[in-house]
Amino acid sequence: MKTINDFNFENKKALIRVDFNVPLDEELKVTDATRIEAAKPTILKVLEDGGSAVLMSHLGRPKGVEEKFSLKNIVATVSDIIGVQVKFVADCVGEEVDQAVADLQNGEVLLLENLRFYSEEKAGDKEFAEKLSKNGDIYVNDAFGTAHRAHASTAIIAEFFPENKCFGLLLAKEIESLEKVLGSSEKPVTAILGGSKVSSKITVIENILDKIDHLIIGGGMSFTFIKALGGSIGNSICEDDKQELALSILKQAEEKGVKVHLPVDVVAADAFSNDANTQVVDIHHIPDGWEGLDAGPKTNVGFSYVIAQSKTILWNGPVGVFEMKSFSKGTIELGNAVADATADGAFSLVGGGDSVAAVKQFGFADKVSYVSTGGGAMLEMLEGKTLPGIDAIIN
Ligand code: AMP
Repeated sequence: MKTINDFNFENKKALIRVDFNVPLDEELKVTDATRIEAAKPTILKVLEDGGSAVLMSHLGRPKGVEEKFSLKNIVATVSDIIGVQVKFVADCVGEEVDQAVADLQNGEVLLLENLRFYSEEKAGDKEFAEKLSKNGDIYVNDAFGTAHRAHASTAIIAEFFPENKCFGLLLAKEIESLEKVLGSSEKPVTAILGGSKVSSKITVIENILDKIDHLIIGGGMSFTFIKALGGSIGNSICEDDKQELALSILKQAEEKGVKVHLPVDVVAADAFSNDANTQVVDIHHIPDGWEGLDAGPKTNVGFSYVIAQSKTILWNGPVGVFEMKSFSKGTIELGNAVADATADGAFSLVGGGDSVAAVKQFGFADKVSYVSTGGGAMLEMLEGKTLPGIDAIIN
C-alpha cells in the first residue's frame, strides 16, 4: 500500500482529492469542520517536504453551478485549520486553473472549485479525469467518504499517474483500521450492530460472520429478530418481510460458531417521544400499544460483559433512539463499555453515520481506537466489496 510517506514532495505539486463535503449553515459558514481537520496531516506533510498542494473536493449535490455549493465558502475555514492562506480558483479545469497551478509556489495551497459543478465528475468521465490530472505531479487520494464511488476524481484519474499515486494519511488509516478488524487475529472479535433496519446491514452481517466470534444485535433492528423468534413486540419497529432472513442469519451464525447476543429487556414507551411514559419490560413481551426504544438494564449489563471480554470491537449503529435523552442510556452504557475495553487494550473501531454522531455527542470519540469518517464507504468495505477509490491506487 503506497502512502504519501513513500514520496518526497520537494518541488512537487500534490493533487489531493480531499473530502471537504462539510455542512454549512444558512449564512454559508462551516458548522462542522471535522473532515477538514482530518485532511490536515496529509496537507502538512506535503508542505513540510517543500512542495505545494492542490486540493479538489465536492460539496453537496449541486445541479450544475450553484453558488451555495461553491468551495469559496470554506476557504477561510480551511485557511484557519491548515495555518496557510489558501488560494482559490473558481473552476477545477481549464485555462484559469492551469495558470493558478503554474503560479503555485512551494509551501502554498490552492483549492479548486466544486468538482460536482461538472456532471462528468460523477459520471467518471475519462476526458474530464485527464484534464483534472494536469493539476498536479503526484495524485493523492485522501477522501474515504467517496472511496466507494468510481468518480473521475476518486478513481478514474489514477490511471494518469501510473507511478505517482498514493493514499493520503487519512485514507491509509481508514484502510488499516478496517483491515485490523476484518483480518484480526486478536480474538475474541465482537461486532455490535444497531440502528433501525436489518435490511441496510444484512450484507455486512453475512460478510463478517466468518470473521467474528460475537455478534451483538441491538436497536430497532433487534425487533425483527425477536418477532421472528415468536416474541410479542407491541408497536416496535419491525421489517416483517425480513423475518425469514433474521432466522437464517441466526442459523448461519450458529453453524459458524458465532455467538449472537440479542437484547433481553427493553425500555418501552407509549409514544415515540422523549416525554412518553416508559416501562422496562421483557423484550419478548412488549405490551400492545408500547414500543421498545432503548436497551433495558439487563441487556446493558449483558452487552457490557461481552464487550469487556473482547480484544477487537467493531461498532456500527446505536442500540436505542439516542437522539432522545430518555432513550440514550443504552447507547451511552455501550459506549462506556467499548471505551473501558479499549483502555484495557482492545482495538475498537466505530463507524457509520449515526454511531459516529453518538460517540461524538457522548464524548467517546477520544476513548475508542478509531472513528471512521466514511459511513457508506465503511459499510461497503465491511460488506467485502472492493472500493474503486482504493483499487485505483493499489492496482
Ligand atoms: P441506522 O441509520 O440504520 O444506523 O439507524 C440509526 C437510527 O436508528 C437512529 O436514528 C436511532 O434513533 C434509530 N433507532 C435505534 N433504535 C431504535 C428503536 N428501538 N426504535 C426506533 N429507532 C431506533
